[in-house]
Amino acid sequence: MSDYKFCPLCGTTLGVIVEEGVSLPHCHGCKKFTHYDNPKGVSVLIVPRDGGIVMVKRGVAPQIGKWALPAGYINKGEGPRQAGVREGNEEVGLDLEIVRALDEMPVPGANLFMVFYETRVVGGVLKAGSDALEVGVFDLSNLPSSEEIAFSLHEKKAREWLTLQQALASHR
Ligand SMILES: [Zn+2]
Repeated sequence: MSDYKFCPLCGTTLGVIVEEGVSLPHCHGCKKFTHYDNPKGVSVLIVPRDGGIVMVKRGVAPQIGKWALPAGYINKGEGPRQAGVREGNEEVGLDLEIVRALDEMPVPGANLFMVFYETRVVGGVLKAGSDALEVGVFDLSNLPSSEEIAFSLHEKKAREWLTLQQALASHR
């Protein structure tokens, strides 16, 4: 989100207000607008399948043609779990249940945070959604390289989860 120059309510050039030590664009005209620019949330999914996890080859910017975990923005009116279930269905065609939250963190250099969930497939058919070029199932043996994965946090969490599953499997 680019910063506002003018108040969207009254058109006055924005000044600055300091709240809790943070400088924020603020309208000193109507005093009704402060641009808090709160981060957007993205739900990111681990979808276990055939001993690996589902990834999508992105068909939309940014990072077209690179692999990512199924993920999407939390829409107005949604919670992060709801968003995850909806996005999973849209992106990979599967009906999912959230098993547990795995992690959450801000995204360096972006006004975003990611929430990672482990899911369980309860229905549907694996297929690429309209904004994906392809879907694939990957484990540690065939995981795309860092250059082929769109977001470093996706790669990190995918690798962590697969490594843990492999360790658990070897103790069974
Ligand atoms: Zn104003």
